Parts: sequence; C-alpha cells; structure tokens
Amino acid sequence: MKHKRKSKRKKEKTCDVKGCDEEKKKSISSSKVTKKTDLEVDSSGRNAYLCKKHYKKYKKATKDEREMKRLNWD
Ligand SMILES: [Zn+2]
Repeated sequence: MKHKRKSKRKKEKTCDVKGCDEEKKKSISSSKVTKKTDLEVDSSGRNAYLCKKHYKKYKKATKDEREMKRLNWD
C-alpha cells in the first residue's frame, strides 16, 4: 500500500521558522525564539512551533548564554 504523505498542506504540523517544512517538535514562546536566536518565526499565535533541528538551535542559543554567565562566575 502506498501512502501519500508528501503533501505540503499540513501547515499546522510543521515548524514555524520561515522556509522550514520539518515536522514540529516543540512549542516555545515566539518572542523568546526571536530574541534568543536569529530565526525568523512565521507564527500567528503566541507560541512558535519548532522542528527538532530548530529547537536544537534554540536550546543551544539559550545554553550558550547560560554557560557564558557561568564563565563569568568563575
Ligand atoms: Zn524548523
């Protein structure tokens, strides 16, 4: 049996970053995403949905910030 899963109309299930069609994984406040990263979020709501890849990027950005703070403590 063949499944037609390549249609692009499932907008709700995809990442909100502009030009990204990956499946969404996490929802994060869109203002946080734009503040912490240079990603362009195309979200109509308060939350942006990120795919795995972009969530990683977001996490890395926030982690870097935390690590920088920790370095300052030493
Ligand atoms: Zn994405």
